[in-house]
Amino acid sequence: INNLNNKRVPDPLFEAVSENLLIYCRDQVLRIKTRNEEEVKQLQLLESLEHLELDFWINPSTAALPVDVRIPANNVQAVKAFLESQGIEYSILIEDLQQRERSSNSFNYGTYHTLDDIYAELDHLASEYSSFVSKHKIGESYEKRPLYVLKFSTGGSNRPAIWLDAGIHSREWVTQASAIWIAKKVISADPSVTSLLNKMDIFLLTVTNPDGYVFTHTTNRMWRKTRSRNPGSVCVGVDPNRNWDAGFGGPGASSNPCSDSYRGPSANSEVEVRSVVNFIKNHGNIQAFLTLHSYSQLLMYPYGYKCTPPADYAELVRHHDLVLASSLLSIRSLYGTTFTVGSICTTIYQASGGSIDWSYDYGIKYSFAFELRDTGRYGFVLPASQIIPTAEETWLGLKKIMEHVRDNSS
Ligand SMILES: [Zn+2]
Repeated sequence: INNLNNKRVPDPLFEAVSENLLIYCRDQVLRIKTRNEEEVKQLQLLESLEHLELDFWINPSTAALPVDVRIPANNVQAVKAFLESQGIEYSILIEDLQQRERSSNSFNYGTYHTLDDIYAELDHLASEYSSFVSKHKIGESYEKRPLYVLKFSTGGSNRPAIWLDAGIHSREWVTQASAIWIAKKVISADPSVTSLLNKMDIFLLTVTNPDGYVFTHTTNRMWRKTRSRNPGSVCVGVDPNRNWDAGFGGPGASSNPCSDSYRGPSANSEVEVRSVVNFIKNHGNIQAFLTLHSYSQLLMYPYGYKCTPPADYAELVRHHDLVLASSLLSIRSLYGTTFTVGSICTTIYQASGGSIDWSYDYGIKYSFAFELRDTGRYGFVLPASQIIPTAEETWLGLKKIMEHVRDNSS
């Protein structure tokens, strides 16, 4: 893994930009070249004008040094007009701080991270944006690692909510990586996110299977299952997406503990699954259940455990066709990535005990599973250079669904 973080040259801009992103979005940073002391004085005058709320990253001191200044979006035009009226040269160092956000944080969103690094970033997000992001432990994995959910909420009590999880299959690394990028994106507070959060909360579980994820880093990159011990077998782990109480034990799941799709001894035997189920039930107002897998570029709805359509098929599929089609268009709009849509059974294969079958049967109408990039060229070992593009397009697709839920839920 090419960890760019290690090679990064210390850059004062990086540290400065990582603060209070929420406030800084759409601000610009100018680099101003002063040619004489007179121009330096003009900039010092500008600096004294408090109502402009300028943030000097490099202060005007001498004509020999450039001045870098962050300007709130509302004042960009005024400052430029001032500089032009004085004949002072400037260039745009950062066009839009929001654009720069991905690479400006000390957390590099364009690389794969260990569990510890991801958890540290969850802490960082929850503390830096505490007004609407909080971190909740919803349980512990088999090996006693915490399961952390980020809650995005602008207030209200028990608002309708959207559930999003990633990494239930640990080797599907682009899903955990996309999820943490999406967390940062939700925080960026673009107007469409704001209107979403005005009505609904979002719960995000970035690493659903932390034991497996750690194992993919330490021992076996291709590990998919949990790490629970199976009595009477030398083989370890249960496929946590065959373990939900939905057609449990049916076709498309193995009863052999050594299989990669071992369903486990009973439904909800895996504490990771049980923890999510309990959370959803206790919350009581989850309107959408969305889950990220890789790879294959698919957007799927129930069922997996049977190949007959859901009961309210006609209404639902007509409904779903529209929202899912617009989700696919959004995904494709960015990089041309094409997804296929359909039920799990008709799109991939019959698979029992899956999470969205459970959530759908539990009453969460908007239950969908994404299979992210790619279609097999790299499969599970998708190059890190594709993380951000994958996350970006996935977010567009997710947002379409979330907006639909916002507009159609009670
Ligand atoms: Zn998967």
